[in-house]
Amino acid sequence: MQISEIQINQVNNQIKALIDAGSFYGKKLEEAGISGISTADDFEKLPFSEKNDLREAYPLGLMTAPEKDIVRIHSSSGTTGLPVIIPYTAKDVDDWATMFARCYEMAGITNMDRIQITPGYGLWTAGIGFQTGAEKLGAMVVPMGPGNTDKQLKMMADMKSTVICATSSYALLLAEEIEKRGIKDQVCLKKGVIGSERWGEKMRNRIKNELGIELYDIYGLTEIYGPGIGISCKYDTGIHYWDDYIYIEIIDPVTLKPVPDGQLGEVVITTLVKEGAPLIRYRTHDISRIIPGECECGSRFPRLDTIMGRSDDMMKIKGVNVFPSQIEEILKEFEEVSSEYQIRISHLDGRDTMRIYVETNGSVDFLDLAKRIAERVKSRIGFTPLVKVVEIGLLPRSEKKTKRVIDERYE
Ligand code: ZN
Repeated sequence: MQISEIQINQVNNQIKALIDAGSFYGKKLEEAGISGISTADDFEKLPFSEKNDLREAYPLGLMTAPEKDIVRIHSSSGTTGLPVIIPYTAKDVDDWATMFARCYEMAGITNMDRIQITPGYGLWTAGIGFQTGAEKLGAMVVPMGPGNTDKQLKMMADMKSTVICATSSYALLLAEEIEKRGIKDQVCLKKGVIGSERWGEKMRNRIKNELGIELYDIYGLTEIYGPGIGISCKYDTGIHYWDDYIYIEIIDPVTLKPVPDGQLGEVVITTLVKEGAPLIRYRTHDISRIIPGECECGSRFPRLDTIMGRSDDMMKIKGVNVFPSQIEEILKEFEEVSSEYQIRISHLDGRDTMRIYVETNGSVDFLDLAKRIAERVKSRIGFTPLVKVVEIGLLPRSEKKTKRVIDERYE
């Protein structure tokens, strides 16, 4: 998805604000002698920004607008060291709500819906983002915040909530409680808007079936507004994102060069109209791809695929970027293999190879199964792995999480 003329102009405004404010990124640009861009090639020469840059700016070094214009801050959870503080102007808060309202609309939610919000409120961007978006839409908000399942279920029934906003794990917990208590007939839920943590198809189907609702995946990160910069539509073929507010490029995390649409790589986001803390080429370390072509729903907004994992998990085999989750997905399609498998990457005769070990029982033709798996990997991902089928019980098992991917190239 090449950057458009309009987006280039928007980036130039962001660049000017960053240089004027003397922010870390403004300084990076000055050092590189860049004061603006005029082509897509220029854009690709702009330096990246990283979470570490943002941490180093703690507490308010990212503030790019005058203090009188800042109305709020949010913070991303700092699992290591300093958190990141993102200042917002009134326009940023309003833009975010507009994007979020668009997400609800994409999910077919209207001002006649009653939206129960279970993500947390506070420094996090979660709860309040869901709330302001719903208010912008004109829906009725039931602002619960997390936990207290008894009260959660009572309000859900009494308020006749039609939409639940939750993490996938909390949605599953609620689904199980509803089932356990036999109160499904009191629940009016039709739709679920689920935060963008990675979740498997199995979990998704359980929530969907137990609650009998449609599910929509919402995407976002605190550094770039928060949740609400994109959402899946009813065709469930990726996440439509709002390219009038953000520009997304996918880069190869090793070479740092953009990859063509359709190819997997790291999601890099540039804000286009942000005032409080604009970010240029921010590396999310999320792995996904741009889905080429039009969506069946007819929306003009481009699509990002479901997040496949983190760039730290990436492997490169015969020039193709591969993620363990892709292999996992393929293996799941073969009913005859057990849930245990092992992937070994090694460097043989000057090139990288992948060996996949799977288990099955004696009633299956081992050679034929190996061939079918290799063919499917080739057709889906683009290279042929060596597949070795073994008897059930032969692969190592441990109490702790079994290490399934072994990279022998670095051992
Ligand atoms: Zn669509």
